[in-house]
Amino acid sequence: MSSVWARRLSAMGLGALCAASISWALRTPAVAGANASATEFSAERAMRHVRAIAKGPHPTGSPAHLEVLAYLQSELRALGLTPHVQDVIGIGTRFAVAGRVRNVLVRLPGSSPGGRAVLLMSHYDGVPAGPAAGDAAAGTAALLETLRALRAGPALVNDVIALFSDSEETGLLGAAAFAKEHPWARDAAVVLNFEARGVNGPSLMFETGAGNLDVARVLRGVPGARGTSLSTAVYRRLPNDTDLSEMAVLGLPAMNFAFIGGEDRYHTTEDDVAHLSMGSVQHHGVQALALARAFGNGALPRPATPDAVFFFAPFFGLVVYPESWAIPIALLAIVLVFVPIMRRPAGEPLRVRPVVFGAIEAVSAVLVAVFVGYGIGAGLTSFHVSLGSGAPRWSGWYAAAIALFVVAIVQFMSAAARRWLGSTSYAGTLLAWALVSLAVAYAIPGASFLFTWPVLLAALAWAVHAMSRSAGHAVVPVAVAGVVVVIVPTAWLMVGVALGLDAVGGVVLAVLAGMASALLSPLLTFIEGKNQWRGPASTAATAAAVLCVGLVTVRTSVERPTTGVLAYVTDADSGGAWLTGYASNGAGDWLASSLRAARIDSAMRVPMPVAIRRLTRGPAVSVRPTPTARRAPSVTVLKDTVVERGRLVVLRIKPSADTWSIGLQMDTGTVIDATVNGKTVDRSRYRRTQARWALEFVAPPDTGFVLALTTPAFSTAVLGISARASGLPPLPGVTLPPRPAGVLAIQSGDIAVTYRRVRF
Ligand SMILES: [Zn+2]
Repeated sequence: MSSVWARRLSAMGLGALCAASISWALRTPAVAGANASATEFSAERAMRHVRAIAKGPHPTGSPAHLEVLAYLQSELRALGLTPHVQDVIGIGTRFAVAGRVRNVLVRLPGSSPGGRAVLLMSHYDGVPAGPAAGDAAAGTAALLETLRALRAGPALVNDVIALFSDSEETGLLGAAAFAKEHPWARDAAVVLNFEARGVNGPSLMFETGAGNLDVARVLRGVPGARGTSLSTAVYRRLPNDTDLSEMAVLGLPAMNFAFIGGEDRYHTTEDDVAHLSMGSVQHHGVQALALARAFGNGALPRPATPDAVFFFAPFFGLVVYPESWAIPIALLAIVLVFVPIMRRPAGEPLRVRPVVFGAIEAVSAVLVAVFVGYGIGAGLTSFHVSLGSGAPRWSGWYAAAIALFVVAIVQFMSAAARRWLGSTSYAGTLLAWALVSLAVAYAIPGASFLFTWPVLLAALAWAVHAMSRSAGHAVVPVAVAGVVVVIVPTAWLMVGVALGLDAVGGVVLAVLAGMASALLSPLLTFIEGKNQWRGPASTAATAAAVLCVGLVTVRTSVERPTTGVLAYVTDADSGGAWLTGYASNGAGDWLASSLRAARIDSAMRVPMPVAIRRLTRGPAVSVRPTPTARRAPSVTVLKDTVVERGRLVVLRIKPSADTWSIGLQMDTGTVIDATVNGKTVDRSRYRRTQARWALEFVAPPDTGFVLALTTPAFSTAVLGISARASGLPPLPGVTLPPRPAGVLAIQSGDIAVTYRRVRF
């Protein structure tokens, strides 16, 4: 075989391996049909539940939500189970929210019933904007189908509790009420939660409780499981929450699963059955069922273990080991770099200079790459903002362009280093990355695998090659495969699917692509052939071409939708009314034309009060008030006394018709303590410290709720009260432009807000 063909085949092999690794990472299991064996999980059977639950929006407390509640109970009864409803006022401990929740619970007795149990959970409420097929009808349906499959098989040793939690979207209220008040919370020994942040893709295990070595080992037994200690380490540092944040107070071993592909439909009108991937439902279900069986037949409570390093590698499955191994493995990589340097042929001098300068070159290359990645990521974001169309975050073209630019930079700089220092400069590259891997192993052990294993495998290949030239070629493919299968799938899932490509995503991608190409630089040199400058030039040209494809094709469209919402706001005290809204990139024109259409003559305009301004995000215009839209809640003072700690004011707040939630906010004055229906509002675990006291009450009953506030003695206070209802009221004499295709309602959707103040 001529060397030209060997080079071409190597290049194609490398490209094919990268593509295969990415497609493996994104793969979901084959969907099991409705006629699959009764003890198996079938997404097709689960889809019957998804279609029933995600018929339309079903936010907590709405009539559609009560229909879903009834559906769950009847389906559970049909399985021969006895569901019960925990119907209480829930108080959030992560967010300033309270509200009525109705958790649905069932218990599948094991062969030794009544002891510790496996807890499966998913929330059955959805955001008001959409039918919530992915988030989380898919999880709810997966649990129903899992319970059916468990009933069809032999009884497990331990009990299984299924919690269909309520009010996750409004502040994790159902999970908080269960963890704090339900007796079964004490019985749970391991928690498995099923969620979504999108409509497709594999169900990733992205978060765990503390000490996850044990659960990661159990997860390893589930074929197709996709999870990394990188995501659990990153997630612990992110301000994100699911029901598991409330369950954390129980201190139990736990795993959280979510599919996160198609983020542009998350919490929108198009989180619907039509866009939901059945493969994602299947992946949720096979893991729920396999883990329910594994934990259900295993020892409960689980043994206490330290945290683990774990990751998935295509064709290997999950690799799991204790965090305490991270530093020794990183040290082993350093030793492998040094062996060939020290064991040189007799008489040859020890050459330190190429190693040191090679290391400096490797560090410089990645710094340049980071700068380029950040610049392109930030530049693309501002380009699309100025264009008013397109979301660069989820573009594979842009991700590929950044990765290729980084490869070109590393190719160029390592070719320059080789010219100047000779091929020993590669030892410096390995040493630099081995030291990075050691630092990561020390600081964030969960992320160490991403650095340590590629460096270790590349160093092994280099050591064998340097010490016996004949065997060297045989280990190169092993090292290449190791570098690619460890870095590429995780990098793609992390940047292309989880984080998205902005300035930060660009930096992460640049570091990983920079490391991979630096470690593979001997192979890239081989592919380049004699002309060491043509390689980087042609990679850069390819990157530019791919970038151009992105610049021309990345646009907001029906396939790649954007989001926007409108809010009609009235001040019940002054009679002023405004239309306001929020638009993501690509929906700005629609928002502007809506506000233009509703705006009234300048003589009649009323400025929006500061207290209301604080509640709204986007631009606002004064509009004609619609008397029918005044839905101010009624407030009755039940008690106003001096107590030991100050002044106690007890209020009954009653919603008017159609009110979905009531926001309370101290405009003037401070709150020492608050209770809702006699339950203390605990602020000690809040995500954000509050500048002024506030609390939202979701799904208020018609009879309202009792709010007791302790304020400083002899103080006066102004409490702002805003009632939110779904949908805009008809605006007299105004025709709003229709929402264009490709502009989706998100979160609360269009809403009407009525504001009033109470002084006491
Ligand atoms: Zn959710």
